[in-house]
Amino acid sequence: MTAGGFGRANLPYGIFRRAGEPARVGVRFGEGVLDLATLAADGLLDDPGGAFAQPALNAFMACGPAAWAAARERLQRLVSGVDAEPGLIALDDVELLLPFAVADYVDFWSSIDHAANSGRIFRPGSDPLPPNWRHMPIGYHGRSGTVVAGGTPVRRPHGQSRPDREAPPVFGPSAKLDVELELGFVIGAPSAMGEAVPVALAAEHVFGVVLLNDWSARDLQAFESQPLGPFLGKSFATSISPWVTPMAALEPFRAAPLTPQEPAPADYLREEPWALDIALEIELNGEAIARTNGRHLYWSVAQQIAHLTVNGASLRTGDLLGSGTISGPARAERGSLLELSWNGAEPLALAGGAERTFLEDGDEVVLRGIAGEGEDAVALADVRGRIVGA
Ligand code: CA
Repeated sequence: MTAGGFGRANLPYGIFRRAGEPARVGVRFGEGVLDLATLAADGLLDDPGGAFAQPALNAFMACGPAAWAAARERLQRLVSGVDAEPGLIALDDVELLLPFAVADYVDFWSSIDHAANSGRIFRPGSDPLPPNWRHMPIGYHGRSGTVVAGGTPVRRPHGQSRPDREAPPVFGPSAKLDVELELGFVIGAPSAMGEAVPVALAAEHVFGVVLLNDWSARDLQAFESQPLGPFLGKSFATSISPWVTPMAALEPFRAAPLTPQEPAPADYLREEPWALDIALEIELNGEAIARTNGRHLYWSVAQQIAHLTVNGASLRTGDLLGSGTISGPARAERGSLLELSWNGAEPLALAGGAERTFLEDGDEVVLRGIAGEGEDAVALADVRGRIVGA
């Protein structure tokens, strides 16, 4: 996957810190960072309520779509040199922090090939999709406090598993540590409790998009999820891009999902189906092991939001909505080692003769994503994570 994708068409937001200075809002342009608080202080940019001097994007995200559009238009003029040449700080000279305080974290399960593969692996002989799957975007509430910025090492978790079904469970480090390649949608504009967000208006609540690695301990997950959903098998760490690409930057890459919605969903979920045409990749120790695309998502983020709020639950600024692991129908398009190695039964052959079923200590995983090509390309910032022994 080529470099680039951080030109005028992208302009993602993040939180950066230079040695000895407070953390504040920046925008990435190429290999540099625009310091928005300084631009505002110099009169080159409106700063709604001092939001750009904050150590999290939440205050700016809460301002809503009109403020986001105004800032984006102004920043695009600035980086084009129309009004002034803004100073750039070299990316190498800053530390990148978690870009926003995560409010609620919900992880959906919206890729049909991933859901069907999970069914074939864990419920052989029955329908690969659960009976609710084509009727609503199902998901679970995750742990927001352990969402970290890409680059943060991930420690192998301890827990209970039952590798031998005839023997008692055992406690120890997970032996089936996995990666899940997902998109993460970041909520900016909140909604009121008790009011469902109509599907046609739902995308207006989305501030931006990140790559998301939903680290998963498959052995802990398999033993604990009977029948309640993911808990300790997922809650130890979730990594996201340190830069949030504005939803506006990805509008040109809306495309039809690769699997049509059949049967037509309930009225509150009904819209012209759409997905984002983003090429996605998992790299393990420098080698690409899977390539897939955002168009393999069956349910859109708008449908996910309409479903999440239809019972009166509210959206909060800083909510993070994971798409669910994104897999395509081909083996090389599977977004997790669970699927790539078929739960360990078919080890993945790596360059140099090595094999992998699940992650080993010292392994480094990088998620990459890019939409479009050339000057108009829009990249999602890499999500990097190295496994540290338990
Ligand atoms: Ca997941």
